[in-house]
Amino acid sequence: MAVPRLELPVLQNWSCHNCGGCCRQHLIEVTDSERQRILDQKWTAQDGIRQPILAWHSGPPWKKRYRLTHTDDGGCVFLNEQGLCRIHAKFGEAAKPLPCRIYPYAFHPHDKSFAVSLRFSCPSVVANKGKPVVEQQKVLRGLASDVIPPGAHNSLPPLLTKRDRVDWSDLLTFVEALDHTLTDPAAPVVVKILRAVIWTTLVGQSSFEKLRGPRIRELIALLMEAARIEVPSIPVKVNEPTSVGRLYFRTLVAQYARKDTVADLSSGPWGRWKLFQAILKFTRGKGNIPPLQAGQKSIPFELLEGSFGCLEPEAEEILTRYFRVKVQGLHFCGPAYYDVPFTEGFHSLALILPVTLWLARWLAAGDGRDRLTTDDVSKALAMADHHHGYSGALAQNASRYRVRWLAESGDLSRLCVWYSR
Ligand code: SF4
Repeated sequence: MAVPRLELPVLQNWSCHNCGGCCRQHLIEVTDSERQRILDQKWTAQDGIRQPILAWHSGPPWKKRYRLTHTDDGGCVFLNEQGLCRIHAKFGEAAKPLPCRIYPYAFHPHDKSFAVSLRFSCPSVVANKGKPVVEQQKVLRGLASDVIPPGAHNSLPPLLTKRDRVDWSDLLTFVEALDHTLTDPAAPVVVKILRAVIWTTLVGQSSFEKLRGPRIRELIALLMEAARIEVPSIPVKVNEPTSVGRLYFRTLVAQYARKDTVADLSSGPWGRWKLFQAILKFTRGKGNIPPLQAGQKSIPFELLEGSFGCLEPEAEEILTRYFRVKVQGLHFCGPAYYDVPFTEGFHSLALILPVTLWLARWLAAGDGRDRLTTDDVSKALAMADHHHGYSGALAQNASRYRVRWLAESGDLSRLCVWYSR
């Protein structure tokens, strides 16, 4: 396949800092040939590998999938004591399974090219550490040609709304407008998200059957200006989210708070039963929050509902960069996000703001604090983004319905403001 043209995020740096986090928090799926290659590498106890099975069969027999085994301490079987990959050390980077070579990058169709996004479940991505991504064009093009299937550059654009599809150039006009809304240097991230939610909700309610090109640009300019006038700054009057909105939000936040690789939480019938009970507690929202992964403490739900103050400027920068990288990388709709339309996808992305702030409050309150640090926000964002576009639970109709309901009822905006105060 010809090497694809890439659109790179201009504001993101990244290099691997060997924290080993990705090798602990992700279950790596390998193809039949990758599994065979690993078996042919003849790993022994002398290499530090004591597990007899290196890749286990998951899913039904008619849909063969293999995942790399994890050790009792939670890491991939190939992760060594120094946090390095044994396959990489012994056979070179190219010998690793494809998902390990690609992470934390993601490639999404973008007209005749591909947009590159990054997963913020990697702490180096959150911290913006490493070489500018725009200077990594050569490596990324090599990776892209390994991962992008033939013909993918002819993909249809994602739907704009649940009814209408516009062509690539008009869809990208909406994407650029969204990115522009997120760039206002004078506005806090919550204001930028509120404005974007307002105008994308109006787009979702409009018909684009006859609108094209310049008329779409005129409409977007009008909508953006209306949203800017409606939300000039952080709203002084804070409206509480409704009880249904809170219920739907907690049900969704439970999906972002979990970590499927924590063996005792979700594996086997007992693990799934415990997870089910924990999610029921989130639904009730009374008593103590059940921890779903390391670092989360069992504290009362109500402790997270007070004011935790303004975000530190560094946390503002991280969140703004997060939303812009996801928007520029088309990492919120179409094939990157359960094939949902642009408007619904952006509302799912906007929900990451209250989800992250809720999780950050949980971390802070677990340490006895009622103020958020940048570290709380960074860790919470890494937890939330782990699932963004990759969780089967978030792809289900029930989850998608809740996101749409939150956006249409106005509770999405209320939740953003409520957890930003
Ligand atoms: S194979 Fe290597 S890079 Fe991939 S998860 Fe395991 S240790 Fe990490």
